[in-house]
Amino acid sequence: MSDVVIIGGGIAGISAAAELAPHASVTVIEAEDALAYHASGRSAAMFLQDYGNATVRELNRAGAAFLHEAGVLSPRGMMMLARSDESEGFEAEFPALGLHEITMDEARGRVPILAPQVTRAATRDDVFDLDTDMLIQRFRRSALDNGAEILTGARATKITHRSDGWHIETAKGPHRANTLINAAGAWADQVAAMAGLDGIGLQPYRRSMARIPAPGGHDVSGWPFMDGVGETWYAKPDAGKLIVSPADEDPMSPFDAWPDDMVIAEGLARWEEMVTTPVTRVETTWAGLRSFAPDRALVIGRDSAQPAFFWLAAQGGYGFQTSPAAARLTRALITGETPELDGATVAALSPQRFSA
Ligand SMILES: Cc1cc2nc3c(=O)[nH]c(=O)nc-3n(C[C@H](O)[C@H](O)[C@H](O)COP(=O)(O)OP(=O)(O)OC[C@H]3O[C@@H](n4cnc5c(N)ncnc54)[C@H](O)[C@@H]3O)c2cc1C
Repeated sequence: MSDVVIIGGGIAGISAAAELAPHASVTVIEAEDALAYHASGRSAAMFLQDYGNATVRELNRAGAAFLHEAGVLSPRGMMMLARSDESEGFEAEFPALGLHEITMDEARGRVPILAPQVTRAATRDDVFDLDTDMLIQRFRRSALDNGAEILTGARATKITHRSDGWHIETAKGPHRANTLINAAGAWADQVAAMAGLDGIGLQPYRRSMARIPAPGGHDVSGWPFMDGVGETWYAKPDAGKLIVSPADEDPMSPFDAWPDDMVIAEGLARWEEMVTTPVTRVETTWAGLRSFAPDRALVIGRDSAQPAFFWLAAQGGYGFQTSPAAARLTRALITGETPELDGATVAALSPQRFSA
């Protein structure tokens, strides 16, 4: 019997385990044989404080100091690029992302392969690479050091609530807990359904990635994270290569996501329009699911019909950068402390917003 069972061993579940373990007995139940196998193993590994809606940005902001202190952020910088026909969208977007416009000479000084048709660029320096493996290992170690149990290969297959708490059947045997945290990523609505509860209208969307050799043999290590107007593609250096994403958002049912060749090809074509170097080889591709609630904010809090069922879901494209603040809010709401976030933000994250 645990105080808390967490279903899901991605960044959401592991960060919550680390926060709760000093205060409660915690068991994490992960279906796969390894942690962070799904979305948490497939991200672009960025920290952009002004990415997401106002509620998401509150979480980004509240978690920034922790991420800096944990040593998981390293400077990358960001550059938005626009062709001459994209000026209108560029002007609408770059200030909202906290970018400032630079000359094309400056832009080409940083990224020498920009095509002549790229006519506008805007940057900000305080955008960071986020070491996702290091962050997960840090949360995992902290959870284990404080007595948490982490079970892999333990898919939850049946969830029942009785007078003595939750009964959860898994591939590795039964578990009992007073509180169940649903951190099941793209499967969060399915886990709720297993527990006999309504979902939150979660929608997983596929996002794909391709790793390509450094264009023209350039040293790309100092290049910024580059983004197209309307998030139609993005690219960033990754261990001496570039990763390029079509920034696709195709709705899917939860599954072990893999990329569609055509989506990758179209995304690489959009990247090629911006640069002077064609893509001659794709080294590897992958895809993951970014799962959103209808209003694109995370869902953190007790279920309105069953308070012993706690939602930690809908991390969308921000699960890593929001994780410190989301996990601390989870701890506060479960242990009864006053959350550090303001009341409006806590309400905007609560699952109660779907039952009003
Ligand atoms: C291409 C891409 C780029 C991204 N870039 C960024 C970025 O730059 N910065 C950022 O912050 N975020 C980014 N994200 C988003 C981030 O990766 C996700 O928000 C985050 O990983 C979600 O974490 P999670 O723990 O909620 O889900 P997951 O990592 O999917 O974990 C959920 C886990 O629950 C388990 N599970 C499901 N059902 C059961 C069950 N019945 N029993 C037991 N276990 C179960 C699954 O096996 C899974 O491991 C990106 C995502 C993608 C796909």
